[in-house]
Amino acid sequence: MLKIDIHTHILPPELPDFKKMFGYGGFIQLKQCPGCTDFDMVDDSGKFFRRVQENCVNPEVRLQEYDKHHVHVQVLSTIPVMFSYGIKAEDGLVVSKLLNDHISEVVKSNPKRFVGLATVPLQDPKMAAKEAERCIKQLGFKGFQIGSHVNDWNLSDPALYPFYEACEALDAPLFVHPWDMRGQDKMQKYWLPWLVGMPMETSLAISSMIFGGIFHKFPKLRVAFAHGGGSFPFTIGRIQHGFDSRPDLCAVDNKVPPKDYLGHFYFDSLVHDPKALKYLVELVGAEKICLGTDYPFPLGEQIPGKVIEDAFPNDKETQEWLFSKSALNWLGMKKEDFAK
Ligand SMILES: [Zn+2]
Repeated sequence: MLKIDIHTHILPPELPDFKKMFGYGGFIQLKQCPGCTDFDMVDDSGKFFRRVQENCVNPEVRLQEYDKHHVHVQVLSTIPVMFSYGIKAEDGLVVSKLLNDHISEVVKSNPKRFVGLATVPLQDPKMAAKEAERCIKQLGFKGFQIGSHVNDWNLSDPALYPFYEACEALDAPLFVHPWDMRGQDKMQKYWLPWLVGMPMETSLAISSMIFGGIFHKFPKLRVAFAHGGGSFPFTIGRIQHGFDSRPDLCAVDNKVPPKDYLGHFYFDSLVHDPKALKYLVELVGAEKICLGTDYPFPLGEQIPGKVIEDAFPNDKETQEWLFSKSALNWLGMKKEDFAK
């Protein structure tokens, strides 16, 4: 069975000294650990962010690891900490281009195994739209990964419309990834920004897009949300009830009930619990859920697709949707694109 993992992250093996290039700090650098194949991600003041292994930067190692689990395709995107939405737009474009050029090369080296999602400088949506066009038309990307918000804009902000218009015109899907978790200064312990902040971010992104009428204004936009939609799927009842009971607060930009959008957008399968995955399938349908693992990070699914097999052990049809058919529809690709 063809298996496509829509949620994997990759970095170039070397990142330039952006602080030197742009004359201000706040960037991540990669430092290879002496005498080993791991890399430390540090900020430019030297503060440790996270250690990553060779599989974060080496396509060959990635494929060897995926062969072990019989997963054929990795959809590649950068690590959200590289979005760089908070810097000058022209510098953000430089960072985006560098990352996009790298992912494009990796995909071109093995187009039957890799698909690329580009990143764009969304702090300037018109500039982002231009880079989006370059990525799809010249570099062979299939879509884009964007953050759950862009500085002070939620994803409903009209400032982002030029980018959404470009995505529709390019027929390019979006993968929305939580990042820059709000309130994390109050969640210093227990890895809470990742465990509590990220699911909130994803729900915020989905709710903003629904209430802001984004799916209505851009009906051709194909959007997938990471981590099984975060806390959204389990709180949709509350969100709908809020819409019904206080339309003066919720229905100000869009009169369509939130529940009407269930099944309109996609989720990845990264919920770490077969019961949660079954509920998700019941909520939006198998044809809207795609295998996603967050490879190669520790909070990701360590055996890609195990939660799908555990949730639907005797249901090949559902497995097929989750392992590849939904992803093909979302990406706008065909099974034959990956034929050996
Ligand atoms: Zn991720």
